[in-house]
Amino acid sequence: MAKTELLYMNDNYIRTFTAKVIAKGDDYLVLDKTAFYPEGGGQETDQGKITWGNVVLTVWKVKREEGEVRHFVVEKEQLPPVGEEVQGEIDWDRRFTHMRFHTAIHVLSTYMKEHFNSEVVGNNISTRNGRADFHLENALTQEQLKTIEAGVNEIIAQNLPVKISFMPREDAIAFLKEKGYQTDYINMVPKSVKTFRIISVGDYDHASCAGTHVANTSEIGRIVVVKRRSMGKGKERITLALAEE
Ligand SMILES: [Zn+2]
Repeated sequence: MAKTELLYMNDNYIRTFTAKVIAKGDDYLVLDKTAFYPEGGGQETDQGKITWGNVVLTVWKVKREEGEVRHFVVEKEQLPPVGEEVQGEIDWDRRFTHMRFHTAIHVLSTYMKEHFNSEVVGNNISTRNGRADFHLENALTQEQLKTIEAGVNEIIAQNLPVKISFMPREDAIAFLKEKGYQTDYINMVPKSVKTFRIISVGDYDHASCAGTHVANTSEIGRIVVVKRRSMGKGKERITLALAEE
């Protein structure tokens, strides 16, 4: 099992990087470090390219498998040997859209907690939309959806900085509890994980999260609530789009 340093954990804005091939399979490479986000936590995979010499490989999926971060490429007959130095470049338009949606979902989650006393129970981030599922007794009305859209946009328009902090488990739990969040999900993380990455959107939203986010909510722009759907058993799904202006 070859271990990869995840460059995006500290800096979500790294688009290009140099790395060494430390393992490979029939159609994938494992690198000593990467800026590619592997699909997971509700966020879709990054895509892009890996170059070595004159060879350009198209990365179509990055995924954790058997403890490794595997970069799956289209041109599988042209894989570099283990030990080779390669250049990586992520598809920035795609990633930046994910960052905008992902950060908007953080704001929406706290908004729903504050105004509907509702916990988020799942989410999905793609280039088309961002969606999140909430525990709610009753279906949301059109009027409520308009209120949610306006409320979330009001928070986003405050141009809040988004900060990344790393905390030991106990500190992360104490910090989130103090901010009023439930921390059951942290207790479900294996004890071998000792450090947690806390994302703070101003002092509005705080969460333990390994995804990618913008550095300031001003980069999200305006969001539109495009639909709601009942997922059954008191669960409502809210889908967001980005308003292109
Ligand atoms: Zn996040």
